[in-house]
Parts: sequence; C-alpha cells; structure tokens
Amino acid sequence: MTTRTDRMPPLSRRDFLAASAAAVAVGHLPNILPQVSGSRTSGTDSRPRQISKNLFVLEDTCNVYVIRDGEHGVLIDFGSGAILKHLSAMGVTKIDWVLHTHHHRDQAQGDSLAVQRGIPIAVPAHERYLFEDVERFWRNRRIFELYQVRNDFFSLTADVPVSASLYDYDRFDWRGHEFLIQPTPGHTIGSVSLLTTVDGKKIVFSGDLIFAPGKVQTLYDLQYYYQEHEGVDFSIYSLAQLCTAEPDLLCPSHGREFADPVPGMQELATKLREWFRYWHPGGSPPTIDYEPVEIAPQLFAHPQAASAFYALISKSGKALFVDYGSASWDFFQAFRDATDTYDRMRFVEHAIDKLKAKHGLKSIDVAIPSHIHDDHVNGFPHLARRYGTKIWCYENMVEILENPRGRNLGCLLGEPIHIDRSFRHNETFRWEEFEFTVRHSPGHTEYEMAMFGTVGGTRIAFTGDAFLNYDKKAMRHNLIYRNDTKTGDYVQSIRSLAEMQPAIIAPGHGESFPVTTDMIRDFELRVEKQDTLFRELIADADADVGLDPDWVQIYPYQAIAVRGRSTAMQLRVRNHRHTDLTLEMSLSLPAGWRSTPERVNLRVPAGGEASTSISLVVPLNWSGPNERRAIAADVMANGIHLGQIAEAVVDVRSAADRKKVLLPGSARNDS
Ligand SMILES: [Zn+2]
Ligand SMILES: [Zn+2]
Ligand SMILES: [Zn+2]
Repeated sequence: MTTRTDRMPPLSRRDFLAASAAAVAVGHLPNILPQVSGSRTSGTDSRPRQISKNLFVLEDTCNVYVIRDGEHGVLIDFGSGAILKHLSAMGVTKIDWVLHTHHHRDQAQGDSLAVQRGIPIAVPAHERYLFEDVERFWRNRRIFELYQVRNDFFSLTADVPVSASLYDYDRFDWRGHEFLIQPTPGHTIGSVSLLTTVDGKKIVFSGDLIFAPGKVQTLYDLQYYYQEHEGVDFSIYSLAQLCTAEPDLLCPSHGREFADPVPGMQELATKLREWFRYWHPGGSPPTIDYEPVEIAPQLFAHPQAASAFYALISKSGKALFVDYGSASWDFFQAFRDATDTYDRMRFVEHAIDKLKAKHGLKSIDVAIPSHIHDDHVNGFPHLARRYGTKIWCYENMVEILENPRGRNLGCLLGEPIHIDRSFRHNETFRWEEFEFTVRHSPGHTEYEMAMFGTVGGTRIAFTGDAFLNYDKKAMRHNLIYRNDTKTGDYVQSIRSLAEMQPAIIAPGHGESFPVTTDMIRDFELRVEKQDTLFRELIADADADVGLDPDWVQIYPYQAIAVRGRSTAMQLRVRNHRHTDLTLEMSLSLPAGWRSTPERVNLRVPAGGEASTSISLVVPLNWSGPNERRAIAADVMANGIHLGQIAEAVVDVRSAADRKKVLLPGSARNDS
C-alpha cells in the first residue's frame, strides 16, 4: 500500500474551526429537523399501501416493504416492527425473512420483535457486526478526538441475533424468488441493494442510496473520514451499477417508490459529480471514471486504482491480470479504516466492464499477485468466484494466501485465496502467445515476485511495490519490518532487475516508467547504504535479529480452538545467527487450557529454520465465553531466558459454532 498525494485538503482544520466559530457567532445555524417532502402519512396509525398485487409498503420509521407469496412473506427492512400487526390484513401468515439493506437504527430498531416471533434476519455481510455484536462496537467506538466521522453512531443499541449474511454479488433465494445482492456503498459503507422481480416487474430495493429522483435524504451520511467525501464517490459508483441493471421500479427506504428510475438516478449522479468536483477541483475524477491505459499492445494499466493493476489481453480475448485490488484510494481507505476490526475489507468490481466493452476482454483466465498485500489481491476472491479465474503465484506466497490466519504480517487480506499453480524462482512459463520469467524479489516484503516478459516488442517488468517512482526521476523503496525483510533483500532484487534488463517497469502504484541503468545504479547504492546502516544501528552482530519481530512464531497466529478438541499448532523459529540455537519453549495459556507437550526443545541450525508441533486444548467445560484470548510462548535460547517473545490469539468456539461464520462480519464461513 501507499499514501495519497493527489488531493489537496480543501480547508485546513484551523481555518475550518475559525469559519465554524464565525458561523455560530452570527447565529447562522442549520435547521435541525429536515423538512422532507414526500408522501408520509406516518405516525403509528399509518397503514400499508399496496404497490402491486404482491408488493406492499408501510411507511414506518423507514419504508418497510412486504413481498407476498401465498401466505408467506419477506420483509425488506423492519423499521419499528409496526408491520407485524398489518400482516393478516394482507393474508400473510408467515414472514420467512427480514432482509436488511443497511444497519441504521431506523431500519432495524424493532428487530427484537422479529426475533421474538422467530423471524430470521439477514443483513449485509459487512455490517453484520453492527447487528449481532453492536454492544462491543459501542464499547470500542472512539468518540473523543473524532476523525472517523462515519455515521455508524446511527447503529442499534443492543445485540440482535442474525441468521444469515447477505454477501455482495451473491443471490439470496426465497421460495424460487431470487434476490441479487448488489453492493451499493454510499449512504453507509456496507449498504446493499436487493434486485428481484415482483409481479413481473424488475424491482430494486435500494436502501437510502437515493431518496427521490435527483435527491438524497442526507449528505452527512456520505462522509466517513474528516473532511472527505468518500460516500459521494461511492454513491456515484453505486448509482451507475443500478442503472446498468435497468430496473422498472425503485423502492427506497425513505421517500416514495418511483417507476423507470434510471433518469432519476442519473440526475442524482450528475449532481453528486458536481459536488465531488466542487471539493476536488483539478483533482482525480470520481472512481467510476477511471479508464484503462494501454502501455504496450494488448497490455492495459490502471494506475489510478488503489494499487496499479495490469490486464494483458491475448488475441483470443482471454486476460491475465497482474494484481487486482481496490477500485481507488477512496474505496481502499474507507473500506480499510472505517470498518470493524474483524471485518474483511470490502471489494467492489471495477474496470472489467470497460475492458470488455472497449478492449476485447472475453474472460479472465489467470490472475497473478505481484505480492501478498491486500491492496493488490483484494479482488482475487471475487475473480475466482465470479469469473472462474485461476490464481497463480510465487511459491512462498501459497501458504499465506491460502491461510491468512497463519501469520501476522503487514497488509494481509482476511479472506483465503485458493492457489491453482505456483512458480519457483527463475521459472519461465507460457500463457497464450506470451512468455514470462518469475523471480523472487524480496525487500518490500519477502513474499513478492518480479515478472519479466516481452509484450509488443517491449521488455516489461511487473515488480509490485519493490521499485516505485512517483516523481518520474528516481526509484523509491520503503521498509516495513512486519513484512519479513532482511539485510541484502533489496540488493538482491535490484541486481536481479539489472540482470533481466527491462525497458519499462510496471509498478504496484502509479504509472509505468522507463528504467535506466543510472536509476538502477542509484537504487543499488541507496539500498547498500541501508544494509550498512542496519549493521551500524543494531547491537547484535547478526543484524537480522533486530529486523525480525517474528523470528519465533506461534503458528497459526489467529488460531481457532473448539472446546474439548485439540488444535494443532506449531512453534516455528528462524535462526538469523551464524551459530546454532538450542531452544526450550512452553506456551503461557489462560487458566485451565493445556498444551501437549508442555515443553518443547528445538535445535535450529545457523541461518536455518525449524519447527515443532504442539497441540492446544481448551477443555469442554471451560467456562469463559466464546471470545478471543491471547497466548504467548516463553522462550529459553542457549540457556538464556528471553521471556514471552512470541504471541498468538485464539478464537474460542463451541463445536456447534464451528460451521457458522466465525467472526462478526468476517469472510465467508471458516476462514
Ligand atoms: Zn501496494
Ligand atoms: Zn505492498
Ligand atoms: Zn439509513
């Protein structure tokens, strides 16, 4: 990942505070109660209105829609629960589901009544924690020193049990009716729209994305981070997706349903674009406008995406992607920072429609990560699910991508990615009419490759985040200890690049650039200097000891322990020293937990690695709740007590929970 440089803050914080104070001083205060135009007959005695034969709406704290099938019904959102007393008048005896478009309190404040009646509740996957784990959310929500101003304050006040997650791009089936779950972030980060057919009409239940043609109900919901307008960017994206679906009728959560909604959505998108430009004069356009750039025949770059990604389109129409992450910095940052600790960064599809329409893409055959980081692989699970894309990677990435709970490294995506093929160092492979060579390229992270090949007569190197160039002058590098980095890594990678003699570097961020021997020499000198400084700064003669926070690891770092069963774990050691190490280790555990064996001995050769198995048992009758606990490894090395220098976390579950989603809002099932 990287940091944004392309946007000027519109107003400094000090100017902003001064301006606000002035506004208050002259009594220029906004209306607190919006005077919403619309059809609300409202109050507690409002009655449902029939929209079509099997579609009804009750204007409650939000619009509650009822879809009827015989005596069965499904509710879209639930409001105060007032709908329950009107069902018999509609001939509905059983509500099979409540499907929520988003987590706001006015959508769900009556949910406990649904639970009392045994009605299951399904919620957007990325907002699940704001239903079933909302009490923890409130314990942890920062209020002082507030910059994450996202309106998740409009969340429920008490936990509500959730029966199902609505996953983006999935289909939810109800009695043969299919609801397509379209991600429509904007009004909230995790909002979804539900597309289905009722009484022969294509209907979209769009939550609070749009209130009426050309209107939103609130702007404040469209701001997540202090003085940003990410929700505006998101809404423009989401409206475009819903326009593509060409619904006959749009049913909003507030405001009145309207037919032939595409022009009304386009009108809103146009106004939001103007608002976006107003705040980003001369800056980047809304995400939806990013265009692929052809950097060599058949090779398209997306330098404006959060991480640059590349689509090589063969003559057959098959595509090979190098990286495919978040659509833009807004999508990356908001989905990363404004979501729950246990949530997985949301991903929405981007660019593929343009590659299809303008550049002949027919299928996405293969995707290859330059390295393991979330900003580069965030779209891979989507590619595999939706397009059957095969994932190939460098061999040392396989374990990490397939089991992201194993390690505690920087920028790991929480969702496992199945790998179909792996490459060894210096392996050459053919794909369609192209040939590439893969080389290990450590430094930014140990789990990174450089891929070299000739496209349209130009030698190109795909190098991920190893060699970045923002100012078109010098290649830059960075250093993140949590990514597994050693002395000599960058020197190895730049010498490898020099050997392979590419003309152009296709980097992991920013635009492609021609690489010169001067640039390579300067880079090499700079990273040699880094190694010198490492040795000068670190007390230990074996400097890598001071660069590796994880030379002793409990594996997996995020374990799942089922009460009464044993959990297989490992203790792994990397010996950075030039002498052998003899280790004696034991796990420090919560009272009542056991490990077998209790103590382990391990001999690790100089400069080598070793591991040993250990099993962990949380007793069946352990009285603690289902929760996350930390454990540590107490380590004695060559007779010196180093203490608890390694740790891991254990998510305790009962056997019955094993098949459920393991963490609120987390990736699909057992990740
Ligand atoms: Zn990156
Ligand atoms: Zn990276
Ligand atoms: Zn809302």
